[in-house]
Amino acid sequence: MNYDIVGIGVGPFNLSLATLLEANKDMKALFIERKPKFSWHSEVMFKDSTMQTSFLKDLVTPLDPTNKNTFTNYLVTKGMFYHLMNSSRTAVTRYEFEDYLKWAADNLSELIQYSTEVEDLKYNENKKTFEIKTNHSEITSRNLCLGAGPVKNIPEEAKPYVSDSLFHAKSEQMFKLNLTGKRVLIIGAGQTGVEIFKNSLEGKWGRAESVTLTTGRNTLMPLDEGAFTNEFFTPGFVSEFLDADQKNKDILVKDQLLTSDGNTPHYLESLYEDLYLDKFYLKKYPTFTIAPKRWLKNISKGTEGVYDITFENLLFNKEESTKADVVILATGFRTVLPSFTKGITDLIKFDEQKRPCLKKDYSLETNLPEENKIFAMNMSRHFHGIADPQTSLMAWRSGVIYNSLTGTNHYKTRPEESNFCQYTSF
Ligand SMILES: Cc1cc2nc3c(=O)[nH]c(=O)nc-3n(C[C@H](O)[C@H](O)[C@H](O)COP(=O)(O)OP(=O)(O)OC[C@H]3O[C@@H](n4cnc5c(N)ncnc54)[C@H](O)[C@@H]3O)c2cc1C
Repeated sequence: MNYDIVGIGVGPFNLSLATLLEANKDMKALFIERKPKFSWHSEVMFKDSTMQTSFLKDLVTPLDPTNKNTFTNYLVTKGMFYHLMNSSRTAVTRYEFEDYLKWAADNLSELIQYSTEVEDLKYNENKKTFEIKTNHSEITSRNLCLGAGPVKNIPEEAKPYVSDSLFHAKSEQMFKLNLTGKRVLIIGAGQTGVEIFKNSLEGKWGRAESVTLTTGRNTLMPLDEGAFTNEFFTPGFVSEFLDADQKNKDILVKDQLLTSDGNTPHYLESLYEDLYLDKFYLKKYPTFTIAPKRWLKNISKGTEGVYDITFENLLFNKEESTKADVVILATGFRTVLPSFTKGITDLIKFDEQKRPCLKKDYSLETNLPEENKIFAMNMSRHFHGIADPQTSLMAWRSGVIYNSLTGTNHYKTRPEESNFCQYTSF
């Protein structure tokens, strides 16, 4: 079968697009996922992991609240609406949101093919189609939507040592972790690093001997979620941002880091309270250390499997070393074109920093005919801005892609009301 669009990777972002396409019976769409069933970063899903965005910024509500796959419809269908309202929470846990995403994925099962891994892509010039080679089939499509997610960021110094005792937080090792009696080092104190630190202290994986958390940042930094800051996560801001000079965009995106990558303020407060109670009253936690302004410089491994880790102390300009039995890298993710795109990379335009160039409709700039588009999700922080890796605008972005794909203005994607902060003109 030749599809109109094939989405590669079924995380929340392509799931959002699938939700819109399901209603359009003229479009033949398929979404391919390598996992056997839907899951959402399950390796780093803890009981206390909370969403950093409102549940109303779900797959579709901000674009089309009448769509059946809204979070509200999930609550009503499951008979949980009043219970959640009565709990007065503004953010839900990540496992609740995952359960919602699973429910939506089940509703969209006719469009999704699981246990299917894309291995290679080619463009057939004569047929004007993309040829998609998977682990068990060959599929063709007029358009593509890349939604394979970012890749793990593993510092160069750590790469030679990746193993069952040194690994990135989003790894299978998290499922079989045993920290009993171990000296544990967590590198990186974004939300995932802090969650692993807190859960380690609480003995989720056995009672560790000691737990150390390091970060290059000045301290454990809260998410900047002020009302005006949150205007960055609106279609109005993105529409203005798109036309700015790329150098100025890069500076702004760097400045905006804590609006997206900071720690949930409430979580930091509860961690502080727990540390206080333990230090002065309960005295049950293993020895713990929080070490800010430390940058990883070197790792070596002794014969007994103990790691010697050297950091640069950025405040005192000196080197410091520590020992650990288990090292968990909470060092985030990198955005790269997935390796399965190597067969089509020469069709794609890149900027001087080797980032793919995008158009306003989230398609990559290519030398292909207009009828063959490669849309890219979660790859445009540099061009569309800080909201790109987040769920805040996923529904809106799906609407932009849907309109471009169908050559219509089916969804209202142009902001009707301006933001309070005006960037383009007074
Ligand atoms: C721990 C964590 C918590 C987060 N919490 C929030 C939050 O609270 N709020 C927020 O706004 N954002 C949050 N984010 C950021 C963002 O919303 C998520 O990373 C989100 O999952 C991104 O969705 P995605 O669809 O781009 O990618 P992913 O969710 O990574 O999904 C990509 C999918 O593609 C599949 N895939 C990859 N390669 C192939 C292939 N070759 N063939 C077939 N399938 C493939 C993968 O198996 C995967 O299922 C969080 C991120 C992380 C890591």
